[in-house]
Amino acid sequence: MSLEDNLKPSIVLVSPSDLEEEIKKIEEEIKSHEQIDVDFQKKIHEEIDNISKSLSWLKIAESQGVWKSKTCKHVSNDTCNAWNISDPEKLGIPVDVIIFNQDGSKKVSVNKFPGLCITCPLYEPKRA
Ligand code: SF4
Repeated sequence: MSLEDNLKPSIVLVSPSDLEEEIKKIEEEIKSHEQIDVDFQKKIHEEIDNISKSLSWLKIAESQGVWKSKTCKHVSNDTCNAWNISDPEKLGIPVDVIIFNQDGSKKVSVNKFPGLCITCPLYEPKRA
């Protein structure tokens, strides 16, 4: 395995709305178990509050990704031309957002998957 292989990034992007749904389910589950110790319930609620606070950061990140996907100069026909994604699944990128080109390159439709743009170091604004 080459040094480059070891340095490949591993990114898992999670939708804030998915997490919110999970939190709601956990809260309902807790309510249905009245026999759980009160202190334990309090502790779980504190944990849920902490997760909810983290969600606000994810929402900000998600909105930044959408904005960058719409204003980056590397986007053409809603597709990012800067990155060639060799193994989308390893990076947590859904296969249905990948554009397969005739030259064998794989590009990402950032219109469908703006999460790619969130922390992208290649972002450059389109010139007017
Ligand atoms: S911000 Fe990065 S990932 Fe997004 S379109 Fe621009 S170059 Fe591609």
